[in-house]
Amino acid sequence: MAFRVLDATSFYAGIPFASQNISYTTPLVFEEVKHIKKNQGAITVLIESNRLKIVEPEREFTEMVLRKAEETGDHQHLSKEDVSVIALCLQLEGELITDDFAVSNVAKHMNLKVVPIMTKGADRISWVYFCPGCKSSFSKASICPICGSKTRRKSSKR
Ligand SMILES: [Zn+2]
Repeated sequence: MAFRVLDATSFYAGIPFASQNISYTTPLVFEEVKHIKKNQGAITVLIESNRLKIVEPEREFTEMVLRKAEETGDHQHLSKEDVSVIALCLQLEGELITDDFAVSNVAKHMNLKVVPIMTKGADRISWVYFCPGCKSSFSKASICPICGSKTRRKSSKR
């Protein structure tokens, strides 16, 4: 089975918590998402049971991703967390699970297998955008108008 590499949007969508498969992510993404389900200790459990492995991509892969992102014009829409996770996917020759348009576009241009996050009953879900930098949330904004960080999309189930 291919290595499943998860970006931040996968964690916000709950992908690793709902699966018994082994997932991979980078230290940068882990830093961003480790607060999720912290009260239940869910991420700690993933790591302790070896279902989540955190791997730092090698520099050459990061540089390849940066070059490609400039080519495709997605550069300004990618956070350093996004770049790291594409680089890791490239290094492991894995499949990238993401809900982020810029991440998936660059990954596809690098001939990586991209698996979109399938949201069941999508018509019942509304999305909120929030800023990992200053923790503000918005109904729609790809760049935080307050601090300029790239925002994340999160489902708000009714
Ligand atoms: Zn912000």
